[in-house]
Amino acid sequence: MEKFDVTVIGSGPGGYVAAIRCAQLGFKTALIERYSTLGGTCLNVGCIPSKALLDSSEHFHNATHTFATHGIDVKEVKVNLAQMIKRKSEVVKQTCDGINFLMKKNKITVFNGHGSFASKNTISIKNDKGETIIESDKTIIATGSKPLSLPSITIDKKRIITSTEALELKEVPKHLILVGGGVIGLELGSVYARLGSKVSVLEYADGIIPTMDKALGKELQKSLSKIGIAFYLNHKVTGATATAKEVTVTAENKEGQAVEFKGDYCLVALGRKPYTDNLGLDKAGVKLDAKGKVEVDEHLQTNVAGIYAIGDVVRGAMLAHKAEEEGTFVAEVIAGQKPHINYNLIPGVVYTWPEVASVGYTEEQLKEKGIKYKAGNFPFKASGRARASMDTDGFVKVLADAITDEILGVHMIGPRTADMIAEAVVAMEFRASAEDVSRMSHAHPTFTESFKEACLDATAKRAIHI
Ligand code: FAD
Ligand code: NAD
Repeated sequence: MEKFDVTVIGSGPGGYVAAIRCAQLGFKTALIERYSTLGGTCLNVGCIPSKALLDSSEHFHNATHTFATHGIDVKEVKVNLAQMIKRKSEVVKQTCDGINFLMKKNKITVFNGHGSFASKNTISIKNDKGETIIESDKTIIATGSKPLSLPSITIDKKRIITSTEALELKEVPKHLILVGGGVIGLELGSVYARLGSKVSVLEYADGIIPTMDKALGKELQKSLSKIGIAFYLNHKVTGATATAKEVTVTAENKEGQAVEFKGDYCLVALGRKPYTDNLGLDKAGVKLDAKGKVEVDEHLQTNVAGIYAIGDVVRGAMLAHKAEEEGTFVAEVIAGQKPHINYNLIPGVVYTWPEVASVGYTEEQLKEKGIKYKAGNFPFKASGRARASMDTDGFVKVLADAITDEILGVHMIGPRTADMIAEAVVAMEFRASAEDVSRMSHAHPTFTESFKEACLDATAKRAIHI
């Protein structure tokens, strides 16, 4: 029986990063993946393919909506969905192949097959060729998550679909009904709205992206309404049925009345659930919490010494970069180091257009905690760079401590805020004040000047350009 120092089950951004860091630290490392390609949800059916389609559909939208204003006349612009999906698949393949290369480079042994604990220190790997058993001193569970649905909705993968099928459609839907106005719904809803679908969002809460700062959801709804997305807030979806060509989605509105929506596709995007199916956790004695997530302590160790868990399968945000941080963290813990993750400073991004990006406390959380704060705001319509590119929707909002001026939260919606938020994370990791940022030079003209201006507004209401 081959013996490893560390075995990682699952090759998503949590698992493959953990494996690389373990190898860097000198451990003999194994990685087990049940699918034939490495990279997990993120690379295969998540972050990467969705961004590829968002980029392609944005080009189409610009060609049909903004090129003429820029003085570019194009005739007969058409969507070639098959080519769009093919390009997306090529991007996915290149990215996944890159992970194979990294495994080889770091001398990590990759096992293809379904991994499950046979005991605390032995893991069975089954595939169509048979079973292999390996021994491992330490094991990291990085098995990720799967889409969540309602008991009353059967995902038939044809008309009633999840994000995975929405990345592979053969036609542009005529009317796409989105169950859930969260991140997946709005990103993939944007893709198809830009390609010409009528898109209706049914959301239970009183605003979209309800876990983010409320101001962001309100502004995003305004922008997405401009590309034709219709929003039905305070609508609790109760069921969905499909025929060969049609879907019917039922919901309860704010007044408690039953309402019905008809379309040709229904995308269920109600969240994701941790994936631990057939993992043999009982054989190792590993406990789950009430939500079915693997229970871990502050060192990401389960209730069983030597077995750790990271990423979507444990508590916290279901984000690729959170999983990556935890992958590095756990490898360093195993090596006896004392790493640290500031979970409050894991940024959240929605890759719609305008993009939404956020880090730290929301205004609602500061109010709830009774922390006194100052708010600074800068609208992109006052930015020269945003006017040049015709991307004037949105704003940057900075929340700073009322007494110390320390930045406590930054919430942005606008052009390239997915990239801009990194500056806020750095500033907050170094516990910068709003004044600190407002005294740093930002290249002109850039979108980033808007962050500086919002900091000026927060620190002393002295933004220059508003
Ligand atoms: P996963 O990526 O889910 O990987 C787990 C892996 O474990 C899988 O490959 C699975 O096959 C394997 N596995 C499970 N059980 C076993 C077993 N018993 N044996 C062997 N292998 C097993 N996050 C972002 O930060 N940014 C984004 O832009 C973004 N976009 C997304 C878009 C979509 C459509 C979706 C669905 C998700 C998106 N996410 C995004 C979320 C992100 O994909 C996840 O947070 C991330 O993949 C979690 O990483 P992980 O390593 O924990 O798990
Ligand atoms: P989500 O949690 O973001 O959104 C689900 C939405 O469904 C919520 O707004 C919720 O109020 C609503 N909802 C719940 N029950 C409902 C009902 N019965 N009727 C109507 N609405 C209802 O989940 P998601 O969009 O499926 O995304 C899953 C995960 O994947 C998220 O945790 C997210 O972090 C991750 N993800 C991240 C990105 C990114 O970082 N850009 C992109 C896609 C997915």
